[in-house]
Amino acid sequence: MSTNNRITKLFNIKYPLIQAGMVWASGWKLASAVSNAGGLGIIGAGSMYPEVLKEHLLKFKKATNKPFAVNVPMLYPNVEEIMQIIIEEKVPIVFTSAGNPKTWTKFLQDHGITVVHVVSSVKFALKSQQAGVDAVVAEGFEAGGHNGRDETTSFTLIPMVKEKLDIPLIAAGGIATGRGMLAAMVLGADAVQIGSRFVASNEASSHISFKEMVVNAQEGDTKLTLKELAPVRLLKNKFFDDIQELYAKNSSKEELQQLLGRARAKKGMFEGDLVEGELEIGQISGLIKNIKPAADIVTEIIEEFEKVKSQINQF
Ligand code: NDP
Ligand code: NDP
Repeated sequence: MSTNNRITKLFNIKYPLIQAGMVWASGWKLASAVSNAGGLGIIGAGSMYPEVLKEHLLKFKKATNKPFAVNVPMLYPNVEEIMQIIIEEKVPIVFTSAGNPKTWTKFLQDHGITVVHVVSSVKFALKSQQAGVDAVVAEGFEAGGHNGRDETTSFTLIPMVKEKLDIPLIAAGGIATGRGMLAAMVLGADAVQIGSRFVASNEASSHISFKEMVVNAQEGDTKLTLKELAPVRLLKNKFFDDIQELYAKNSSKEELQQLLGRARAKKGMFEGDLVEGELEIGQISGLIKNIKPAADIVTEIIEEFEKVKSQINQF
């Protein structure tokens, strides 16, 4: 791995491999396992009440002294309180998402924190750069969970963002292997962010039934839906079918919101209700075949990356 990589230098990590912040999956256990293995672990604060985040930060720091980040979706209800904890607990890196990068970037950087913003388009990548963030994650249509409306795939998004952006670029969406990581870097990324593959890890806090469903998922088993509310890629289950039924009846946004209700994501991914819950995962789940320790996932990806890179001149 090159020692000149802009992301490994920025984050002070060994490999340009970042584990995505994921609600109900990426608590301190997963994040510390990835950071200990040489990547960047991220604690996903989107599903954590402030005191839960605090507990996770304390447990993380007992498990490792390696660099790490917290992902804060800006639509989180108690975002000010979360930011205060981040300052108090001296979190070194924050990944903001689902909001305007202007809102928190300067405040966090004034406290010595490195700021990365997650986007799904060239327009918002440039807006993030103008807001002064240190790096951008560009996430394509393949990604699981909440996503952009425009359905721009990673294969097209990464080179388009690369052409316009000066600051470091992290590719996300559809990457789960060393081969995928290399492809993203050939397209112009400095690093990759990987979510789905780490859901199928021993350390993810997701329910075992959800992890097993991810491992059994085939190509075509996920779909981006609920664009009227917040676009989200889900595994097809009864809840997904209920959404389709409402669409078939030309139902209103209010009816969709009523069906969604509250805490469906927790029900599905944390409590393991595969029938009524919201099951967020990426298209690449079709390639994920086993649940294993996060450190093994990191090693496997890096080994494949190096192997395929060494063979590339055969093309
Ligand atoms: P359990 O105590 O049965 O824990 C299930 C898994 O989640 C374990 O690996 C456990 O790790 C981990 N876990 C439990 N509590 C937390 C926490 N506060 N933060 C991070 N990981 C945790 O589940 P509970 O139903 O008792 O969980 C309590 C609450 O914690 C949940 O209702 C939820 O609000 C929150 N939580 C949020 C997570 C997220 O957003 N990623 C993840 C897990 C929990 P261990 O017990 O070894 O610390
Ligand atoms: P809901 O509004 O349906 O439910 C909120 C869930 O978050 C509940 O399960 C609740 O746990 C938990 N929670 C954690 N902290 C708080 C808090 N301070 N106030 C209220 N609830 C809290 O949300 P969803 O499940 O649909 O979404 C979960 C999160 O996903 C959102 O809060 C948001 O942060 C994130 N999100 C991220 C996006 C992105 O990054 N692009 C886009 C859209 C959403 P409990 O059930 O134990 O009360």
